[in-house]
Amino acid sequence: MFDDVFLGRPNPMWHPFTSVPPLGPREVLARAKGAYVYTESGHKLFDAVSSWWCQSLGHCHPRLLRAFTDQAQIMDQVVVAPHTHRPALELGEKLLQITGKQFSRVFYSDNGSTAVETALKMALQFHKLKGQPQRKTFVAMERGYHGDTLGAVSVSHVGEFHDSLPFEPRVLRAKAPYCYRCPENLTFPSCEVACLNSAETFFAEKGHEVAALIVEPLVLGAAGMISYPNAYLEKLVRLARKHGALVIFDEVFTGLGRVGPLFAYHELDRALWPDLLCLSKGLTSGFLPFAATLATQEIYEPFVGGPARAFFHGHTFTANPTACRVALEVLKIFDEEKVLEGNQKLIQLMAEQKPRFEKLAHVGEVRHRGLVWALEMVNDKTTKSVPSPANGPGWRIASRAWADGVWFRPLHQMIYLTPPFCSTAEDLSQAFNVLLSALQKETQWDK
Ligand code: PMP
Repeated sequence: MFDDVFLGRPNPMWHPFTSVPPLGPREVLARAKGAYVYTESGHKLFDAVSSWWCQSLGHCHPRLLRAFTDQAQIMDQVVVAPHTHRPALELGEKLLQITGKQFSRVFYSDNGSTAVETALKMALQFHKLKGQPQRKTFVAMERGYHGDTLGAVSVSHVGEFHDSLPFEPRVLRAKAPYCYRCPENLTFPSCEVACLNSAETFFAEKGHEVAALIVEPLVLGAAGMISYPNAYLEKLVRLARKHGALVIFDEVFTGLGRVGPLFAYHELDRALWPDLLCLSKGLTSGFLPFAATLATQEIYEPFVGGPARAFFHGHTFTANPTACRVALEVLKIFDEEKVLEGNQKLIQLMAEQKPRFEKLAHVGEVRHRGLVWALEMVNDKTTKSVPSPANGPGWRIASRAWADGVWFRPLHQMIYLTPPFCSTAEDLSQAFNVLLSALQKETQWDK
């Protein structure tokens, strides 16, 4: 039996996304500041993954701490059905402004999964109210990830996460734009995004049943930080619109500067902007659990007209005042400290690291977009064969890096960095050096 003990006593915790016994290092985490986390044993770690990609401005940011404590003394959780409060109002106004006046309403919830659930349910009820109740199907992307509640799982498709459930969702899947392992064996751009040909066929047959397309725009995060061509997204959105489906962008990960612009969809023509937008993670810079689902006026209108049209969805902690105040402060910091402009230096540094890693024998591909950088490990560059999970090098490399003061979490055969925006050039260069050294020490590849 695995001896699961922390601090000399049995560990009561069932850990998320963790096999038993766990792979890789485990310690008691004591405190965090800026880009660093400290363990009780005095180990200092650079948080190269921004604590599951949410700590954009850095841990325990003094301005967020102040916003939180100020608001906590004024008012804690209250019901906002149908009331409101200043933090919710001001944050809503700010969100509508920074999203380019594309949306007219903001629905608050607690995490990325609930932001997605909210959007999916809005799409279903929208069509019902508009007299098209047959629109019940969702189109999602192979290798997409949208969260862990069942609705979000049903539109997700990351084998390692979802194969364990005996669950058959009602969803059509567009082939993933995984250019490194192209499903059509073609090369972009000469492929002309042929991976969407099958989506064209199913939209032609079943388009009238589709409620919405849901995508992670520009980068598939949990699938291994797969950055993909804008042309794929543009073609898929056009297809959905042509067939009367709504478009949901899940920017839980990509939003708030992670892939370069404030939102990934800002890279697209306005005509291709989404009908529903899901935000979380960076919205409070990871300070508090919080999320928002933004909807256009067109989506909102059918819900107006009394109880029979109401959106019967909500969460106890909807519009938590402290979380709203903290999110508002995050957006102020983005404005006042010119965060996106400041990120350019780190983005450049990350781009410059690519060649050092690309030449390693067991690195198949290095991917980089904004503040997302990943490498995909292979046994052999020619065959691109994937290291078997039983012999996965990811956790051995992460363990070596941990000992050297850098916190990575492998994703399947990928190792990635999604660093806090407050990282210094020295922090980041050191993290890459530690990763390179850990990779060079790895010898156990599949034969
Ligand atoms: N959508 C995306 C794109 C995500 O990356 C995640 C979390 N990694 C989620 C949704 C779910 O967010 P949460 O874990 O906060 O429920």
